Amino acid sequence: MIHGLIANLAVVGLFVSVWLFAKEALVRHDRRKRAVVLGVLIGLGSIATMAMAVRTGDGVLFDLRFALLATAAYIQGPIVGIIAGIAAMAFRFASGGAGWFAGCVGIFLTVLIGVAAHKWLPLRWNFRQCVPRVLLVTFAASVLPNVAALLLPIELIDARLGRALAMMTVMNFIGMLFVVAAVWNGNLRLRERALMIAAIAQAPDYFYVKDRQSRFVAVNKTVAAHHDPSLRKSLVGKSDRDLETDRADELFAAEQALMQKPEGQMHLRETLDLPGGETRVYETTKVSVSDVDGQVIGLVGITRDITDAVEAELQLHEDQRLLVSILSKMTDGVALFDDEARLVFCNDQYHAFFSLTRDVRVPGVELAAILRAAAERREQLDIPRDNVEEWVQTVAQGMMRGGEEEVRLFDGRTIIARTRVVPGLGSISVVSDITDMRLSEKRLAGLVSEMETLARTDGLTGVVNRRAFDEQLEREVARSRRNGEPVSLIMLDVDHFKAFNDFHGHPEGDACLKRVANILSSQMRRGSDMLARYGGEEFGVVLPDTDEDGALVFAETLRTAVEAAGIAHGASEAGVVTASLGVATLPAGVTGLSAADLLKMADIALYGAKRNGRNRVMQYSRLLGSVIADPAEDQSPGRKVC
Ligand code: GH3
Ligand code: MG
Ligand code: MG
Repeated sequence: MIHGLIANLAVVGLFVSVWLFAKEALVRHDRRKRAVVLGVLIGLGSIATMAMAVRTGDGVLFDLRFALLATAAYIQGPIVGIIAGIAAMAFRFASGGAGWFAGCVGIFLTVLIGVAAHKWLPLRWNFRQCVPRVLLVTFAASVLPNVAALLLPIELIDARLGRALAMMTVMNFIGMLFVVAAVWNGNLRLRERALMIAAIAQAPDYFYVKDRQSRFVAVNKTVAAHHDPSLRKSLVGKSDRDLETDRADELFAAEQALMQKPEGQMHLRETLDLPGGETRVYETTKVSVSDVDGQVIGLVGITRDITDAVEAELQLHEDQRLLVSILSKMTDGVALFDDEARLVFCNDQYHAFFSLTRDVRVPGVELAAILRAAAERREQLDIPRDNVEEWVQTVAQGMMRGGEEEVRLFDGRTIIARTRVVPGLGSISVVSDITDMRLSEKRLAGLVSEMETLARTDGLTGVVNRRAFDEQLEREVARSRRNGEPVSLIMLDVDHFKAFNDFHGHPEGDACLKRVANILSSQMRRGSDMLARYGGEEFGVVLPDTDEDGALVFAETLRTAVEAAGIAHGASEAGVVTASLGVATLPAGVTGLSAADLLKMADIALYGAKRNGRNRVMQYSRLLGSVIADPAEDQSPGRKVC
């Protein structure tokens, strides 16, 4: 019996191998054709098991037909199961005997269980997950078909049959587990292979395998399409010599050299002119392939069309070249620093600005090191000598934050470095020479101040003009009101000046006015006092923080000074130039009067002085109600103040 059992198991094993082989061989055929061939093969397998049935000690026959049939239906699906089942039933029927009907029903039940399991308990690719359902299906497919034994003639149903069925169930159960495991494993390998083949075949790169004589063993679709799609099959067995004309010998020699070493590798980049006139760039890697004994048996090659990548690279280089050329032609210096404040790039102009540290300002050097060198070599003025490190850190941090910094260089130039932070890149510093700009600004500021002075100065006498006088008077009156301080105003008018002009001539008149202005100027003691030419031969003096008495005394000082100068006046009774003065004061705490009021008061006082004989000082407050009422009063010389 044991021999029969082994023979039966061998048949199952043989047909499992045939099954897997056929699956692989039929891989290019359509699904139905594969199912029919597999069905027939497995049907033959089950017939073989029946033909080599095992005879038990009791003389009852059993076989492993269920193992093949149920597994075929379960794994391969209904078509394979049904064809195999029909073949097995046909054989069983032809074999005849009392149990033919029960045998056919058993076969039918087995296939039925396999098909049902295929639909509702299908296998997954993770074998462990499948173990419970495989055990269930195997158990069902080896036990349930025994029901058919009930269909046997009643005289055959006895203890011997029971033992034989039990033996058959156990053997089929074991056999079926073996078949499922073997086929499942085989299917897994086939699937992996199919995946790899598909991946290589459909890869966009050129993929090929060559033997030791550089003949193609396998090529993918891309290689075939490159040469001629119809050649795909016929490429196998051919070499480059059959395809290429010019480069074949060269390629052959290189490949043969590569295959001298077990782990040889070869990389090359080629620019080829295609038959259509197009030029493409290819990158190829070839690796020698060895067998398990380390003998080189061929090579694997991958060739990739890198034309687009090369063109993009060239474009990038061209763009970079253009950028560098533009930067080098700029009048400004440009420096690029990375995120870690290291110099990445700078143009010639940048070096020209920093001539003392040119050797340090090179790519890769940290900004802090550059600044330290600048401090050490005194390239920049205004670097604090006692705390260089703090200065370095402040400037470096400032630059990495972006902003503007004005720098005075050792050679007298002034530059401005404008830094902008570029996220992900670092920071860009643009350095411009602003020496001329700063000089022009200085000159302009001087001119403006000169113009301002001129606008405030009287052209003839050089003292402040009326406009500036009016402004000053307004200011001082406002200030007096604010601070509660007095402010006084003196108006001075040269006596008989028309007659002076008439007698001495206009130019002499001008000279006289200049002298009077100088005399008055020389009397000014306090910086806050202001002398101005009010117009014609009239002068005004603003005296901040000066009360009535002080102003009266100062006015008399001025009058005396003019008279004492002794400027000859041929048309005046006095014989010398004299002046009349009117004084008005806004006393401390008086807030209701304006600059115009003060001016009017001083003018009235001046008028009073003229009316009272000239060459005298009159004060507005004392004038009211006295002097004007009697202009002839007090004509005595030396008592000219009232
Ligand atoms: P009074 O004593 O009343 O002040 O008589 P006056 O002649 O000085 O006054 P009046 O207003 O009649 O004449 C002022 C003269 O001053 C008239 C004008 O020719 C002269 N004058 C005004 N400005 C200038 C100037 O810039 N240069 C010269 N040379 N004369 C001037
Ligand atoms: Mg006058
Ligand atoms: Mg006058």
